[in-house]
Amino acid sequence: MPNTFKTISVFQYTTEAEIIKGRLEAEGIHVFLSDSTTIDTNPIVSNAIGGVKLKVYAEQEAEAIAILKSISSYSLDNDGQAISCPNCHKHQVDVFSTIKDLKSFSAFLVGFIFGTLPFHTRYKYRCEACKTEFPIQ
Ligand SMILES: [Zn+2]
Repeated sequence: MPNTFKTISVFQYTTEAEIIKGRLEAEGIHVFLSDSTTIDTNPIVSNAIGGVKLKVYAEQEAEAIAILKSISSYSLDNDGQAISCPNCHKHQVDVFSTIKDLKSFSAFLVGFIFGTLPFHTRYKYRCEACKTEFPIQ
């Protein structure tokens, strides 16, 4: 069945989904986000409607999941090199959102709307080995 969609991941906020979408698209995967417009309009409903669904074509599902796993196990820089921790130099580095609660999300939203918030204040890298957090360059 061509053009059947499969949901491979769910995100609370569109921005997180957009990062993964960008990475998958760089690998040639067609990505569709559902409910992102609704959640952008009213972020409070995200939990109620089950978050932003990241969907791919069924025939690309296995490939997309493989990429998703490689993303979540470690982060790569723009050249595809594994990012190493500045402290322990291991490659167990993950991206995490600094948007942790509603208060910082509100601040994020204001910054997002007015375009004053740079990317690196919203997301950081964290080393899973030694828990060192460091900014995205
Ligand atoms: Zn480390």
